[in-house]
Amino acid sequence: MFLSFAAALALMSASGSAVHDDPLTQPIPGNADWVKPQTPLKLYGKTYFVGTGGLSLVLIDTGDGLILIDGALPQTVAATETNIRQLGFRVEDIRYILNTEAHYDHSGGLAALARDSGAQVITSPIGAAALRTGRADGDDPQASSVPEHPPVANARGIEDGESVRLGDTAVTAVFTPGHTPGSVSWTWKTCEGDACVDVVFASSLNAVASGSFTYRAHPDVTAALRASIERVEALPCDLLISAHPDNSGGDVKIAALQAGAAPNPFLDPSACRAYAERARARLQARLDREAS
Ligand SMILES: [Zn+2]
Repeated sequence: MFLSFAAALALMSASGSAVHDDPLTQPIPGNADWVKPQTPLKLYGKTYFVGTGGLSLVLIDTGDGLILIDGALPQTVAATETNIRQLGFRVEDIRYILNTEAHYDHSGGLAALARDSGAQVITSPIGAAALRTGRADGDDPQASSVPEHPPVANARGIEDGESVRLGDTAVTAVFTPGHTPGSVSWTWKTCEGDACVDVVFASSLNAVASGSFTYRAHPDVTAALRASIERVEALPCDLLISAHPDNSGGDVKIAALQAGAAPNPFLDPSACRAYAERARARLQARLDREAS
């Protein structure tokens, strides 16, 4: 069936389609992987993967409400909420949504998720300011190209090392600037009985830039990214989730976990070091390219 755009609009409004008319879930084009459906999975203990095939979102059951980390895209919000319900949880029980960076692929869905859940959105002060405008920070290496996303009115900043506490869980902010000025990684403990592991949800540490920005001309940004890489490398880390799963083999691990792999492929104390090493090599490759 072929419909003109106007006819399709008329049809949508006739059917009263809230989803299609929702200003907070209008699609922002991106990678095909980012919208690939992914069955939700328990990673370990009370920590669950509720993201897509190409973007990590994690849900933590604290025993007294839920904490969600990252929001993916506006158009993946419905899939995220379905994933959360499929695990037996209620979207309305999310109390906090934490964010790793104010780029649309990790924060585009935050406004709709915050509205639907009533949750408070929390990140660094610099990240929160960017979320409230829906635009990348002016000092962001990708400021000239990254698409805007729905503003997150209730985004609030916390300090480096501060924890978000709910139920039996404390999720601690580890500021990891460089990819964006306000990037934050998050760490917490999750337990199965007495067996507790240190979980790290690492922000993107990728050296990416657009327009005339070079890392060589911004030694402060380069130094910040290097320090963030070292910081993630040194974290207590039994289980790593990276904001883009394929930056740490997360896509392969998720497929294996879903297929019932044992031992749990996510339990890997070398994962943060490998992630840091990859980011360091990528930064060096970029610096070398900029010099040539
Ligand atoms: Zn980004």
